Amino acid sequence: MIDPMVEQIAAIHARIKRAAERSGRDPAEIRLIGVTKTHPAEMVARALAAGIRDVGENRVQEAEQKIAMLAAERPQLRWHLIGHLQSNKARKAAHLFDWIHSVDSLRLAQALSRAHEGDSSAQVTQILLQVNVSGEASKEGFDLAGWEERPEALAAFITDAEAIAALPGLQLRGLMTIAPIGSPEEARPHFRRTRLLRDLLAERVPQADWSQLSMGMTDDFEAAVEEGSSMVRIGRAIFGAR
Ligand SMILES: *Cc1c(COP(=O)(O)O)cnc(C)c1O
Repeated sequence: MIDPMVEQIAAIHARIKRAAERSGRDPAEIRLIGVTKTHPAEMVARALAAGIRDVGENRVQEAEQKIAMLAAERPQLRWHLIGHLQSNKARKAAHLFDWIHSVDSLRLAQALSRAHEGDSSAQVTQILLQVNVSGEASKEGFDLAGWEERPEALAAFITDAEAIAALPGLQLRGLMTIAPIGSPEEARPHFRRTRLLRDLLAERVPQADWSQLSMGMTDDFEAAVEEGSSMVRIGRAIFGAR
């Protein structure tokens, strides 16, 4: 019997493809991350069997257990941390995750870099800088609300980005944002402003690779793809309600 999850995933891929085509983008540039937070390791195994290779979790402890249970599958999976990370868990996170989307301070990036000191392998952590361009109550992410009119906030962010780009053990790959709760059309300007910020960083901090934009969830991923997202983080549309 075919797992119904296979169909759910195919439907998401089809929607990503149509959104990419509407905006003249190559659908192959967009990575689907299955967000398995709150679901057990068996759900991750099912997702893997259904073709998911990128898995998103928002808590270090919860992910640690699943990663341990799926040790045999580790080479086939890329684990992404998408939730807030405290500096005291940086060492653990740096070794558990392939990607960390939620880097929101220079201090945290430095802690992640230090975690790789003395690593014998050439392993690096791929990181994204989480930005808050909406000024919404949620305080996570670098504060870039209204960055177009706040040259000093932008300059401070660029200084931090330059320092982070130079840290060993990390590879800076782009930006991540979470749109405020609302309709896709309400989310769209936040996605667009995040992309414009990324384009500016690519000019001002050319030593880093700014190719990645992690934007879009179940309720707004098509608008995010139309505005340039390269990583959509989808939970409920694949795995059901939490
Ligand atoms: C939970 C979560 C998602 C997935 O949300 P859905 O609405 O279930 O698709 C994406 N990104 C982050 C940061 C999350 O915490």
